[in-house]
This record gives sequence, C-alpha cells and structure tokens, in this order.
Amino acid sequence: MTERRCDPVTGEWRMFATRRQDRTFLPAADACPLCPTRAGGPPTEIPLPAFDVVVFENRFPALVREPPAPDVADSDLYPVAPSVGANEVIVYSDDHHLGLADMDVSRIARIIDVWADRYAELGRRVDVAYVFVFENRGVAVGVTLHHPHGQIYAYPEIPPRARLELQVATAHMQSSGTCVYCDVVARERSDGIRVVAHNASFLAFVPFAARFPYEVHVASLRHAASLLDLTDPERLAMADVLQQVIRAYDGLFGFPLPYVMSMHQAPTDDGEHQHVSHLHIEFTPLHRTADKLKYLAGSELGAGAFINDTAPEEVAARLRGVGRAVR
Ligand SMILES: [Zn+2]
Ligand SMILES: [Zn+2]
Ligand SMILES: [Zn+2]
Repeated sequence: MTERRCDPVTGEWRMFATRRQDRTFLPAADACPLCPTRAGGPPTEIPLPAFDVVVFENRFPALVREPPAPDVADSDLYPVAPSVGANEVIVYSDDHHLGLADMDVSRIARIIDVWADRYAELGRRVDVAYVFVFENRGVAVGVTLHHPHGQIYAYPEIPPRARLELQVATAHMQSSGTCVYCDVVARERSDGIRVVAHNASFLAFVPFAARFPYEVHVASLRHAASLLDLTDPERLAMADVLQQVIRAYDGLFGFPLPYVMSMHQAPTDDGEHQHVSHLHIEFTPLHRTADKLKYLAGSELGAGAFINDTAPEEVAARLRGVGRAVR
C-alpha cells in the first residue's frame, strides 16, 4: 500500500508506505549500500569507485513521481490521494565515516549547493508544494544506515509544522509589518544569552521557547526565503555555523549526539511566501543528558504541549563554552 490519507479530525495528511518495513536495517560497514562500489566488492546504490556528493531516489519511498492508485476509496469524510512527490537520499561523501562534524567546511558548502539545486528542481514541479531537507543522525532517532547522509522529501502539500509557522509568520507580518524570524534574529543578537555560535551571515541559538533540551536553530542574519537567496560566501558561512553547532554538541556530550536536523524554507506552491518564510535549520536532539532521552509523553504527544527540563540560557552557555574549546 502506498497512499495518503487525510485525518478528518486534524485535517493533516499522513503517508502510508507499507513496503518500507522491508528496508535495510543497520548493515555492517562492509555491506554499506551508501559506500562507493569498489572493484571486487558487492554492488552498492552508487556504481562509482569514488564520489563527492551523490543524490538518488530512496529505494523505499513514501512519495514517488508516479504513484500507484490508492488501495481504498476516497470519500468526503476520509479523503485519500496518491503518494505523489519524491523521497531522495543525499550521501554526503564517499567516506563511510566522514560526516558534517569532520569534513572540510568547503565540502559542507558543496552539500548546501546540492540542497539548493534539489530545492529548485523539485520545487519547480507543479505537484510539489514543499521541499523538505533533513538529516537523521544516530540510531536514537531511527537511523537505519550509518554512512553519513541526509534526505530530501518533496511533499504535495505544505506539511503541518511548516504550515503552522507560515500561519504565525503571516499573522505577525499583518500585525507588525515585519518577518517574525527577522525579529527573532535581531532579539537573539541583542540579548546574546541564547547564542551558541555566529559569524558574519549566520546565527545559531537555543530558541527562547525551545521544545527539546538541546534544541538549536540556525538562521540567516538577513532575510532569505530559501537557499536560492544565499550568495556563495553566505553558503560558506552557513556551513561554518552548522559545523560549529554539531561540534559543540559532540564536544559537550563526548559522543556524536544523535539529532534530527530540519530545514525550513519557503513553500514551492504558487503562494506568495517570499516575505514571511525565513530560511532556518532546526536541530532537535532527543537527549536530555548523556544517558537519558527525552521521550515524548502525555503532554507532548497527547496535548502537543512541550515541557522542557532545561533553561535555554544555560544550555546555550554550555554549548558556547565547548564551542570555544574545540575551535
Ligand atoms: Zn558506507
Ligand atoms: Zn526574515
Ligand atoms: Zn521552523
């Protein structure tokens, strides 16, 4: 079954892809499907002896260019739709152990170029309303392959969290005439106490009302709706701040901290989002201490109201301290 169903109670679309249950789960390093195909070795997803950055379609997609017809009938109460869109995998390098924390910043900038290209190309499709770039890092957040990689989803409508941000940003624009994220960036720069890292073009900070204990957001200092609005030096600056955040995490915890990294950019439907969408990346690690995870429980899952056991200002100070030490 590959289809989308709309929940009549919340109005949210959910994806169903039952074949995904068969996907490869944590293979040994010598059977890694994301490594280059080496002479005499087993075939992998990438039939090249070496590569820089590679993007290919996920072998177990939840969204595809030409989806099958849904299994169940559509009705007014229970809308059903084909799983149109795309799921792509982006492999960061041909080195099985080289992730964003350790690679040269110029290589991260190359990955940003690829993210931008995919955003442009997938976003041009009339059946794609939102291009979502993300990375799951670490087994704690459900990674099934260790080789450093990220993913790109092209959704046929704006997904719930992006839609909520857009609604709030639109209301803020109407009431104050400014981009809410530009206002947040200005406030964080002047307050300073939640800043984790910064350079000439990008800022990393623990959000004032963070959901997760070690949540960090990275934003462009000037208003940019998507990666396409960034200059080459700005992409390099973004690469630098992303790496500073990851190194601060790893330095503070003493191991590669599992996280979900989500990029929010302007939707690619035919709406006018340029002034209310502000490019940012959200890091949401699940750890609250080195050996304890924050589980989403009653208040979070049942009510959607997060309880955070840490003070964002203290977390920022700790990450800042480590960041200085590793630089
Ligand atoms: Zn590998
Ligand atoms: Zn802005
Ligand atoms: Zn966001």
